[in-house]
Amino acid sequence: MLIFTSEMNKVIPIRAGVGNCYLIIHPDGYFLVDTGCPGYGEKIIKSITSRGLNIKELQFIFLTHTHYDHAGNTRFLKEVSGAPLIVHNSEAGLLKNGWHEVPYGTNPVFKIISMLGRKFSPSHARFESAEPDVLFNNHFSTIELGAPATIVHTSGHTLGSSTLIFGKHAFVGDCMVNVAGWIWPPFANDETELLKSWKLLAEMEVDLFYPAHGKRLKKTLFLEALSKKTG
Ligand SMILES: [Zn+2]
Repeated sequence: MLIFTSEMNKVIPIRAGVGNCYLIIHPDGYFLVDTGCPGYGEKIIKSITSRGLNIKELQFIFLTHTHYDHAGNTRFLKEVSGAPLIVHNSEAGLLKNGWHEVPYGTNPVFKIISMLGRKFSPSHARFESAEPDVLFNNHFSTIELGAPATIVHTSGHTLGSSTLIFGKHAFVGDCMVNVAGWIWPPFANDETELLKSWKLLAEMEVDLFYPAHGKRLKKTLFLEALSKKTG
């Protein structure tokens, strides 16, 4: 699938296991948001090079957070491309460990899944550890890396979860989902923080949100979900 965000910009979702990572091509280069589940590195590279792009020219890799289904091929893709890796300060430790606990559930079913996961599989999901190159706290502009995007801290799903804003498009990782009518994610470590992040996202001049799980959603749908949440 190919989504044209304007004449010169393209967003390409790449299915990599249980969710998407996103290849974003703009007139001055291209970059990658998330790296998918372990084992999908070759597929991601093929998806890039089959478009005539030189993998060595990948401007950067940004991880929305370091769950295994978002960071699974980070080490491999860094090695192949040589691209710098951007991640929030609070996620760096998990990235270096190469595993994380099951996050907390936000509804009764996922609360049970989370509880069982934490009990029986404390080092839940493993992936090859990687070294970050660029760490940030509140926000980071990718202009210095040659791409017109801004990254903002949108905590809640995990402590360091962050969103990349490219024009009127927001790549939100697991801050929201768009699956089976759900927009509030089934897993979040801190729902109070997540709601604050939703309010922050609602104030931004964004038209479309791209979650890792499910299709992109329009702002109107997101705002409806937010007003349900705030009553
Ligand atoms: Zn996640």
